[in-house]
Amino acid sequence: MRVEFDRDTCIGMFQCVAEWGDGFDEDTDAGKAVLVDGDAIGDDVFAVDVPDGDELDAKFAARTCPVDAITVYDDDGEQVVP
Ligand code: SF4
Repeated sequence: MRVEFDRDTCIGMFQCVAEWGDGFDEDTDAGKAVLVDGDAIGDDVFAVDVPDGDELDAKFAARTCPVDAITVYDDDGEQVVP
């Protein structure tokens, strides 16, 4: 499972941190979330492979994001959230 995070879209309400605290940190100065260990894959877009056992939390983080800045893909590359 893979998560992509569009930092440009993020509005920094940090619901994702509440749902998946190992996956997202707060950058309160920037008012943006930080995808932990995320690789830059585009212009302010980051991606990370979800560790085993964190899949449910990652999906909850993506579902709770009010601006759909978090996208989850399964191992076949199919988008599963949102
Ligand atoms: S829930 Fe969405 S908008 Fe809020 S901090 Fe996380 S990524 Fe940003």
